[in-house]
Amino acid sequence: MADILVTGGAGFIGSNFVRYWREQRNQGVVVLDALTYAGNAASIADVEGATLVEGDICDTDLVQKLLRDNDIRTIVHFAAESHVDRSITGPHAFVQTNVIGTHSLLRAAKAEWLDRGGDEPHRFHHVSTDEVYGSLGADDPAFSETTAYAPNSPYSASKAGSDHLVRAYHHTFGMDVVTTNCSNNYGPYQFPEKLIPLFLINALEGRNLPIYGDGMNVRDWLFVTDHCRGIELALEKGKPGEVYNIGGGEELPNLTVIETICDVVDQAFAKDPALRERYPDAPAARGEPTESLKTFVEDRKGHDRRYAIDERKARAELGYVPAVDFKGGMERTIAWYLANEDWWRPLLAR
Ligand code: NAD
Repeated sequence: MADILVTGGAGFIGSNFVRYWREQRNQGVVVLDALTYAGNAASIADVEGATLVEGDICDTDLVQKLLRDNDIRTIVHFAAESHVDRSITGPHAFVQTNVIGTHSLLRAAKAEWLDRGGDEPHRFHHVSTDEVYGSLGADDPAFSETTAYAPNSPYSASKAGSDHLVRAYHHTFGMDVVTTNCSNNYGPYQFPEKLIPLFLINALEGRNLPIYGDGMNVRDWLFVTDHCRGIELALEKGKPGEVYNIGGGEELPNLTVIETICDVVDQAFAKDPALRERYPDAPAARGEPTESLKTFVEDRKGHDRRYAIDERKARAELGYVPAVDFKGGMERTIAWYLANEDWWRPLLAR
């Protein structure tokens, strides 16, 4: 069986997908990743059958060579600049990787899969975000696949641009593409600048938990292996040219997410006295509630108020159902970070 190409496979979701895929099937995986600050070769170093190629998705010749040399007919595209705050301070890199980089992959795939003739099956799976749909009011219906695009940050605008290019390559050139727009992922191997690992590590080290605005911005939370399963189902059953929204069925305000982190940390310290020695600066080490670290700070510029996912299409057409509830997923995530300090500690210096 030919390999698949996973772009951004050394990042958070990509590395979870590489692991998931190798656990599910005996198919080789070629990972193309530029190893930016967010990429970490260590996240997949122990995965047998996965080969990391350090390179940029904007390098069309390299991508074409990888497709040709490995007879690759499936691309799962995760590589992106993905942090909204960074897109506010430095938007250009987001346009470069998310728009130009996605187009580079599409060009390479078209050259190898379509321009040479032949009709072997192929698939370009594009991983995108619910943020392309903009922001919802408290009573608005959840985002469906037909919700008009209204991206508000340079990050979501660049992802929206990439979604349109993927769609255009299907309609104009007949490429077999599927796009999934997912909600906020959480789980192991997430770079510690994102909310959940950042707040967990701050809680362990006794640093403040800085909450944007009033903490009532709502997101749908998706455990990363549920997302991987959703992508697998879309690869197996998704119809060419279609879009599927993938969510976790857990719409929660940030404050609830943060309070859950605090509760799970308090419980972990109560159960395991050794944590007091490992993290002496944590309030939980002194028997104080982690919640005492909560601090409200100025809101993010243009902060979207609410995202919610209507995933009825994915349920009906793909059979997708999230399996992990938020409390259970959070316990698994925090247990993983506590057991894998050697993974996250070196990243704090970046
Ligand atoms: P991440 O930032 O953790 O990982 C991105 C990876 O892409 C890194 O390994 C990085 O080195 C690599 N990369 C960046 N630029 C590259 C380039 N030019 N060439 C090759 N590799 C490059 O991101 P993530 O959270 O794993 O997100 C993966 C995908 O899922 C992204 O497309 C993102 O937009 C989408 N998404 C993420 C979330 C989420 O909650 N994390 C939600 C919705 C959608």
